[in-house]
Amino acid sequence: MLKVENISVSIGNIKILSNISLNVKKFTSIIGRNGAGKTTLIKSIMKILDIDYGNVEFNKIKISNFNTYAMTSFGIGYMPEDRRLIPNLTVKENILLPLWSKRKNNENSALENILNFIPEVKSFLHSDAYQLSGGQQKLVALARAMIVGKKLLLLDEPFEGVAPALAERLVELIIGLNKLELITLITESDETYSKLINADIIKLERGRIVS
Ligand code: ATP
Repeated sequence: MLKVENISVSIGNIKILSNISLNVKKFTSIIGRNGAGKTTLIKSIMKILDIDYGNVEFNKIKISNFNTYAMTSFGIGYMPEDRRLIPNLTVKENILLPLWSKRKNNENSALENILNFIPEVKSFLHSDAYQLSGGQQKLVALARAMIVGKKLLLLDEPFEGVAPALAERLVELIIGLNKLELITLITESDETYSKLINADIIKLERGRIVS
């Protein structure tokens, strides 16, 4: 279980998140308008942002005591809202990158599993990331998160800015994730797709949980 315990987070001297507590057991969606603090929350869990006070625990380990690079070793994968692919690396290299950081050499079977789950990535596997459309980049960012995210996936606005057909495909893929043995936390600006994937809903407004 992912347990966020009473965290507060500031950027500069502005408080962005106040006293956030939540438990994620299986499939949960954080809903909030632009600026509500969704990305800040995900980045705080990943330790990309420092927490002023409070804790984040995953499977009883206080992950807020570790650095971002350690998250892969806890089986945590992250898909940033803006994808963050490395433009001059190929799609395959981008997907494998988190495994290199773990110095694991089971690359081929790990990649094969991901490509079975998201087969459309095969057709642009050897392209450089900068050549892809925004939608294709979302799929690659999901694949990269999944290659290490065997226990927990953090998907920041996976449906944002994608064409309806791709959003439907992402819904299908994310429903597929729910069948795997992992915990998934996603964010969305409204409930449209979160309802379709049957996620538990937590609403965030101005850095506070309202329901
Ligand atoms: P969006 O979908 O627009 O990204 P969000 O819910 O993810 O919305 P955050 O990106 O977490 O919201 O932003 C929460 C608040 O923190 C906003 O008021 C935003 O302006 C502010 N904020 C985020 N990053 C910074 C930064 N680097 N410097 C200053 N303020 C920031």
